[in-house]
Amino acid sequence: MVSTDELRILADSMGADFFGVADLSVAQHVILAQGGKEVAQYPRAVSIGLKLPNAVVDQLPQRDESPVAKLYKHHAYDVINQRLDQITSRICGFLESRGNRSFPVPAAQTVDETRLVGIFSNKMAAHLAGLGWIGKSCLLVTPEAGPRVRWATVLTHAVLEKTGDPMEERCGECAECVDICPVHAFTGRPFRAEEQRELRFEAHKCKGYLNELTETMGLGVCGMCLFVCPHGKRASESLA
Ligand code: SF4
Ligand code: SF4
Repeated sequence: MVSTDELRILADSMGADFFGVADLSVAQHVILAQGGKEVAQYPRAVSIGLKLPNAVVDQLPQRDESPVAKLYKHHAYDVINQRLDQITSRICGFLESRGNRSFPVPAAQTVDETRLVGIFSNKMAAHLAGLGWIGKSCLLVTPEAGPRVRWATVLTHAVLEKTGDPMEERCGECAECVDICPVHAFTGRPFRAEEQRELRFEAHKCKGYLNELTETMGLGVCGMCLFVCPHGKRASESLA
């Protein structure tokens, strides 16, 4: 047996900023359609989040300057993703040592190049665990750090107590992420669990823009939808 509290202590000891456990039974059909039977066999998900460094995110409006783009790619993608994968690898090993089949979902993953999705949605796990809401940007927005968080997941058979229920969206009339997107990738439609992501987000527009930046600048970095969210900005402005 293993408890949610034991896992929380382990995650804290490795520097996780967010920890949650989700009951996946409410999303079985979505998980099956996205990742297949192998992924959909797990009834619980352990969600881990790491905050992005605000000083790096706050430079994104100058991302067409090469040093800013390189800094963001390094600290907001590569380093954070490696840290997340190390935490989920350790949690997965711990769960297996207690006799629970478990599966670490990588922090960065795109396996379906048509729909531009991974085998499992890390944001969905965090949402179901009660850690935030899905904003009009399709990002998971936390009350503590807005969308300035990157996520990874461990799927598991362990019988764990869930940490929460999906949070109601708190975007209200705000549409800053919709308005700032240079390629108008968002429709502005609020998240509905039963609706396909394509009704809110045209992922190919974003991907095309990033590819264009890679061709012209050598590095595809945007993130303006993440930068502009007032919930993240507020957290940044509260720092000394
Ligand atoms: S990363 Fe940039 S291009 Fe992509 S959706 Fe966000 S604002 Fe739009
Ligand atoms: S910028 Fe506004 S609309 Fe977009 S996710 Fe944040 S609160 Fe929601």
